[in-house]
Amino acid sequence: MSSRILPEFELLPHDIDEAVKMLGLHQGKASIMAGGTDLLVMMGDGFRADYVLSLGNIPDLAYIIEESGKWLRIGAMTTLAEVAESKVVQEKYTALWQSAAQNGSPQTRNMGTVVGNLLRASPSGDCCCAVLALDGWVVLEGPQGRREVAIDDFWLEYRATARRPDEIAVEVKLPDVKGNTTSAFRAMTRTTLDLAKLNAAVRLDMSGKQCENARVAIGAVAPTTIRVRKAEELIRGKEINEETLEEVGKVVSTEVSPIDDVRSTAEYRRTISGVLVKRVIEEACKGV
Ligand SMILES: Cc1cc2nc3c(=O)[nH]c(=O)nc-3n(C[C@H](O)[C@H](O)[C@H](O)COP(=O)(O)OP(=O)(O)OC[C@H]3O[C@@H](n4cnc5c(N)ncnc54)[C@H](O)[C@@H]3O)c2cc1C
Repeated sequence: MSSRILPEFELLPHDIDEAVKMLGLHQGKASIMAGGTDLLVMMGDGFRADYVLSLGNIPDLAYIIEESGKWLRIGAMTTLAEVAESKVVQEKYTALWQSAAQNGSPQTRNMGTVVGNLLRASPSGDCCCAVLALDGWVVLEGPQGRREVAIDDFWLEYRATARRPDEIAVEVKLPDVKGNTTSAFRAMTRTTLDLAKLNAAVRLDMSGKQCENARVAIGAVAPTTIRVRKAEELIRGKEINEETLEEVGKVVSTEVSPIDDVRSTAEYRRTISGVLVKRVIEEACKGV
């Protein structure tokens, strides 16, 4: 006779130490699951993992902590919805707030995490783009303890990260931003519930209308989300005006190496990449 009441079972692991041990024991055979909105889709598409190590039962991994003057720290189980509801993220880290708030649907935002987006290492990941512009760091825990990897060094190639097989990402950290720093994010999609065919984010340190420093990130135009360094150099020390934006638009298309895929063509991506970056800079500068 069947019953709708499940028998009792224990969901493992209970804490990070236990998780790291289990990961070491099943190296190469275990996949870590945060919200599962990517992992379970991948498994549905044929990806195999003998063991799934859920972080869902580990307490204290869902947090947004502002260490004033230092970092904003976002835990591995903090959902996209929690980030989208955060006033501090909205006001000080607008690019990340926009990338989380626009991500997928209410269902995927309630389950999916910012850290999962970074670890998935998709070149079209929305939070990847925002965190790269915001100069984030990924904090990893393994048998040797904790280490931190700058997001600039985190994605090695298509879907490959600097995480070692026995490490778990425990949080992402963003450096504190001053009052004159502004940021923005935008994605272009075929439909509202689709991954980006192009996305871009910027962080600008402004002094009046002049840009003192810039980080410009763009996704879905290379094997990983990339920085557009020529555009950053071009803006640095300049006033953001129509002329600068025109030059930025031109330089971006020379820095990208997009491919054709189901979401778009390489030609379209190359042509539009400059326009998208221009618009994101304009948006970041609104009210400056
Ligand atoms: C309908 C739908 C719409 C979507 N829309 C968007 C969108 O608009 N934009 C977008 O960017 N993405 C989108 N996604 C993809 C997905 O929702 C996001 O990438 C989400 O942020 C993933 O987080 P997660 O916690 O669910 O990751 P999971 O699925 O749990 O994990 C993703 C990957 O990261 C690894 N991982 C996760 N956490 C850790 C950790 N702490 N340490 C080490 N490895 C870890 C997993 O092993 C896996 O390989 C969509 C997905 C669906 C199903």
